[in-house]
Amino acid sequence: MRAVSPDHPDHFREKRARALRISRTLAATYPDARCGLDFENPFELLTAVILSAQTTDARVNQVMPGLRARYPDSASLAAASPESLEKLLRPLGFFRSKAKALREMAAAIVERHGGQVPQEMEALTALHGVGRKTANVVLGECFTTVGVTVDTHVKRLAWRMGLTASRDPLQIERDLMQLLPREEWTPFAHRIIRHGRQVCRARKPQCDQCVVRGDCPRVSDP
Ligand code: SF4
Repeated sequence: MRAVSPDHPDHFREKRARALRISRTLAATYPDARCGLDFENPFELLTAVILSAQTTDARVNQVMPGLRARYPDSASLAAASPESLEKLLRPLGFFRSKAKALREMAAAIVERHGGQVPQEMEALTALHGVGRKTANVVLGECFTTVGVTVDTHVKRLAWRMGLTASRDPLQIERDLMQLLPREEWTPFAHRIIRHGRQVCRARKPQCDQCVVRGDCPRVSDP
């Protein structure tokens, strides 16, 4: 018997059904999965996501109240003195480069967008320090979802679960967007991130305790 091509419609349909089952199972397992960053508006979320590089959401949440009190909007942040801003960001590490990124991002929002966070992927990713992953978080949480956030957990788990054959974040995003309905894109990423932190860790995934093991080729393949 001839092997079925991975591109065969039947194979794709099966994969889409499996992706949806995984998403639903994880939804039941982590009903409170959501963005771990505290924010009150799109500008704060954009700021927080930029600050979350190389640190934890919890640490970012600790510095956000001080940042919010001192620099409540893009105009005040763009005009911040580097020294004062760096002092506030010091607990996060890489505080000089993060302070510079925030000031440049805020200045661009003031100059190009009248002080408001833009709502388009292209305009967001044109801002200093904002990549597609950051833009997807902001759009998914505050505006209109246009993609799937692909961070290190989504990248690793999508691969292990056989939902992509690529290691490239943009291709992984495209693959997941094809497999899942739009309304699942943002919550799916939150669930996967939680599962990646708690069970399907980079080293030693706990497959024997995994709720989606029946749908994961890493375990279920003969
Ligand atoms: S079965 Fe193992 S590899 Fe697959 S998702 Fe679960 S923990 Fe990860």
